[in-house]
Amino acid sequence: MTLDDGSPDDWTTPGAFEVAPGVWRVPLPLPDDGLRAVNVYVLRHDDGLVLVDSGWAVAGARATLDAALEELDSTVKDVRRFLVTHMHRDHYTQAVHLRREFGMRVSLGAGERPSLEVTMSPERDPLAEQLDRLRLLGAGELADTLARITRGRAPEEDWELPDDWFRGGDEVRHGDRILHVVETPGHTRGHVVFHDTGSRLLFAGDHVLPTITPSIGFEPVLSANPLGDFLGSLALVRQRPDARLLPAHGPVTPSVHARVDELVAHHGARLDETEVAVARGAQSAYEVASRLRWTRRERELGDLDVFNRMLAVTETAAHLDLLVAQGRLTRADVDGLRCYAGA
Ligand SMILES: [Zn+2]
Repeated sequence: MTLDDGSPDDWTTPGAFEVAPGVWRVPLPLPDDGLRAVNVYVLRHDDGLVLVDSGWAVAGARATLDAALEELDSTVKDVRRFLVTHMHRDHYTQAVHLRREFGMRVSLGAGERPSLEVTMSPERDPLAEQLDRLRLLGAGELADTLARITRGRAPEEDWELPDDWFRGGDEVRHGDRILHVVETPGHTRGHVVFHDTGSRLLFAGDHVLPTITPSIGFEPVLSANPLGDFLGSLALVRQRPDARLLPAHGPVTPSVHARVDELVAHHGARLDETEVAVARGAQSAYEVASRLRWTRRERELGDLDVFNRMLAVTETAAHLDLLVAQGRLTRADVDGLRCYAGA
């Protein structure tokens, strides 16, 4: 095992990296999707292991997990429970597969239930709700492209309900450690984080990420104001004692509060840019997204891959809907197209 140096360049290097006494960061590979890797956190105590998040059930992730646990003289059979921050496949699906094999307990935030049940329904086309929504947001062509890519995919074997559902205020005890469950809707409706106040650690999932902003507004059963939810959840975490940030994507960093302040500032600036784009004549979320720049490299919408273009459009809609909630814009659905205008 290696001491975690938090170097931003090599956080994806496989292994088990001790971030605090009894806590290891284990990066697992993802299929080619830009995020590069997902961190699973291993908590060790005499009576076994508890893992925060599980990784995506893809070839390579299981072998990487096995090798990392071997560094801790353990195997997946020692895992008693998965604490999963949210239902996205890079966090949840390997837990589902391992539970079939070994029967450990899997827990997930209660707010994920509606989206998980829709995702599990057997007759559903992949992304059906998201594609309908893209059409409403003015991105019909993008929806057609995505429909072509996803149509006829084999039925999913990745999805099952968890054993139990977390609610805000729950506590998870593991040895001397107490993890406080905090509901942080925004990235998804049922996202939760785990706050170890005793050791000043926040297992943040995708709620607070050190180098990127989590996507907002991409799930089958959407809240009315996902960005408003997200900013409320950032404020909630900011009111709690500061902690080291243990994110699902990226290196461990010293302060949750510092990163929350950056994220709040980012979205404030983004809301202003979004309002300006509407003032200059963009009407649909797709038109607004086409006028904004994306990623730290300031790329144009058309330069993103098709999946990230979808996330960009739904995220733009989340900003527009918050501006409507704030009274800065108005919104009307006209002939199947959602149009925004100055208030
Ligand atoms: Zn993730």
